[in-house]
Amino acid sequence: MGTTIFSVMSALAAQTGAVNLGQGFPDFECDPSLLDHVTQAMQDGLNQYPPMPGAAPLREAVSKKIESMYGRLYDPQTEITVTAGATQAILTIMLAVVHPGDEVIVLDPCYDSYVPNVAMAGGVVVRVPLTPGSFRPDFDKIQTAITPRTRAILINSPHNPSGMVWRHEEMLRLQEILAPTQILLISDEVYEHMVYAPLQHHSASSYAGLAARAFVVSSFGKTFHVTGWKVGTVAAPAALTTEFRKVHQFNVFTVNTPVQHGLAKYMGDPRPYLDLPLFYQRKRDLFREGLSSTKFKMLPGEGTYFQCVDISELSVPEKNLGEAKFCQWLTTEVGVAAIPMSAFYGDGFDQNVIRFCFAKQDQTLQAALSRLSKL
Ligand code: PMP
Ligand code: GLN
Repeated sequence: MGTTIFSVMSALAAQTGAVNLGQGFPDFECDPSLLDHVTQAMQDGLNQYPPMPGAAPLREAVSKKIESMYGRLYDPQTEITVTAGATQAILTIMLAVVHPGDEVIVLDPCYDSYVPNVAMAGGVVVRVPLTPGSFRPDFDKIQTAITPRTRAILINSPHNPSGMVWRHEEMLRLQEILAPTQILLISDEVYEHMVYAPLQHHSASSYAGLAARAFVVSSFGKTFHVTGWKVGTVAAPAALTTEFRKVHQFNVFTVNTPVQHGLAKYMGDPRPYLDLPLFYQRKRDLFREGLSSTKFKMLPGEGTYFQCVDISELSVPEKNLGEAKFCQWLTTEVGVAAIPMSAFYGDGFDQNVIRFCFAKQDQTLQAALSRLSKL
C-alpha cells in the first residue's frame, strides 16, 4: 500500500509553501468556548479512562441531537458508541461484521480508507460506479451488484470528494432495494451539517427500513472544526452495537475523556451545528464566485467543504498531464495544493477533475484564487 494522497499533498504543500486546499481540514480555530469546556473537564479531574462505549454525557447529547434532527431515538446506553473519529468507526464496523469472503459494496469514487478497511476484514470489495459526471447513485448498477454474498453496502452523503448530496427519493430507493435482503448499511455521514440550501441532509437514521440495518457514522472533527481531535460516533440498533463493541473494546477500548466531556457540554447549545450550513455556504459562494472568472469548470457544490473543478478548459499545457501530475504541478508551480479525483477510484479513473477544500479563512481562499486566476 502507498501513502495516502492527503499526506502526500499536505507534505508537498508544506515543503513548497503552497496554499493548502488539498487535505480537508480548516485553517481557522474552533470556538474558544469548546476549548474552555475541554480545559475545564481536565481541571475537574476527568482524566482517566471513561466507560468503554464512551462518556455517558456525550452519548446522551448525541442521542438527543439525532432525535431532534432526524427523528429517531437511539438508546445512549446500548445504541451509541464514541469512536476515535470516523476512520476508526468504519474499520471497526468492518472488523465486526465482515467475514472472510463476504462482499461489501462501495460506490466509486469513495473515501480512501474504505477499500483497505474491507480488505483488512478479509472481505471482497465490490465497486459500483456512481453515475459519471453527476456522481448520483445508479440503482440499477447497485441492484445488479447484489449477490447472496453481499454483507454490507457503504454509502456517503454528503459525498467526499464530489460534494453530491443524496435526495430523499434516493434514500427511499435504497431502502426499497435492501428491504428483501439481510444486507447491512454503513452510512458515512461525517459532512451531515454541510448541506447547502435548498437541499437538506437525509440521514439513514430517518428511514425505519434503513436505520434497522444501519451503522450511522458521524465525526465531531468536521462539525466543530477540530479534525485533529479524532472523535466521532456510531449509532446503530442494539444488536449491531453489541457486535461493534466486541471489536471496539480490543481495537481502541475508548477515546480520550476530557474531550468527550467538553464536547458533551458544548452540545448543550445546538447553534454551532445548526449555523454550520450558512457558515460554509458563504465560503463556498466566495470560492465559487472567485473561480467563476477562471477557466476551471465547477461541479455543483451541494454539500461538504469541497469544490471539484474540471480542468479541461485551462489554457496551460499541464492540464494534459493527468490529474495527479497536474495537482503536483499546481502545488509546486502555481502555489495551490489540490487533490486529484482519481485518488478516490479503484482503477485511478482520470476525468480531468480535481478537488479543492474551502474550509479556509477568507484570506486563504483569496490568496489561492489570485494564484488560480492566472490559469
Ligand atoms: N469519511 C469521510 C467521507 C471523510 O471525508 C473523512 C475525512 N476525514 C472521514 C471519514 C474520516 O473522519 P475522521 O477524521 O473523523 O476519522
Ligand atoms: N477527510 C479529509 C479529506 O478527504 C482528510 C482525510 C485524511 O487526511 N485522511 O481530505
